[in-house]
Amino acid sequence: MEGIIAGLIGAGLLAAWLWPKLRLRRALARPLEPGLLAILERNVAQYAGMAPPERQRLQRLVQQFLHEKSFVGCAGLEITDEMRVTIAAQACLLVLGRAGDDSPAIVYPSLHAVLVYPGAFLVPRREIDVAGVVTEQRQDLLGESWGDGRVILSWDHVRRAGWEVPETHNVVLHEFAHQLDSESGSTNGAPYLGSTARYRSWSEVLSRNYAALRRDAMWGQRGVLDHYGASSPAEFFAVATESFFEQPWELAARHPDLYEEFLKYFRVDPRDWMAQPQPVYDEPFGGQVVYGQWR
Ligand SMILES: [Zn+2]
Repeated sequence: MEGIIAGLIGAGLLAAWLWPKLRLRRALARPLEPGLLAILERNVAQYAGMAPPERQRLQRLVQQFLHEKSFVGCAGLEITDEMRVTIAAQACLLVLGRAGDDSPAIVYPSLHAVLVYPGAFLVPRREIDVAGVVTEQRQDLLGESWGDGRVILSWDHVRRAGWEVPETHNVVLHEFAHQLDSESGSTNGAPYLGSTARYRSWSEVLSRNYAALRRDAMWGQRGVLDHYGASSPAEFFAVATESFFEQPWELAARHPDLYEEFLKYFRVDPRDWMAQPQPVYDEPFGGQVVYGQWR
């Protein structure tokens, strides 16, 4: 009798383990509908520049994301296919280098929901200073990433990123960079990298570039990286990730060591997807070739 019960429990556990995998495989077997593909082409500039195998990999990641994560409309917003596909595709750019051609990839395993507001949203903030004074305020936010499996986004700003020329800010890339950062166990600007040698190199390169950005921010010197990245190492990683995918040529020209580290981590080179902007000979920066878009 005990043997039968143990067998039934074993079979139940096996089915519970297998069932989600089978459902995912079935979802991935269906190609993305033409209407959803059109959204991908329209709203994700990087997709247009990709070679066919990379395009297919991104499509599969989008299917997996849509299958595994739920989207919740907030403040009366009704979630549309355009929102789901645009957010999923931009988020999946960050994990494109992890994906194989056949088997399902690891796509933000601890994320379960994306909450979308129509525009910037207000959240209560509580700060306690050294004297113990508690200040309550309400802040306008464009996006937030939580360690409990949620990302919150303003659709107005997600959509606006697609229209900006050149694109410099991207709230989806920013918040999902925080998600990757938290995979290492703490959100501190260093995602999971594997070996000690990789952490050493990452820490050296990112610390150097972070210190330089803090100096630039203090002196009001504008560069390719937004000064918001000078607020903490975690924000630096998120801001630099936006630049890596949105302004790869500019980032590689001005921060080659940082670009190298990101190439090793993301395992894609976004310069392959975008035409090189017109170089500008830049005298104040010692005559090095830079790109003039942001100055
Ligand atoms: Zn941030």
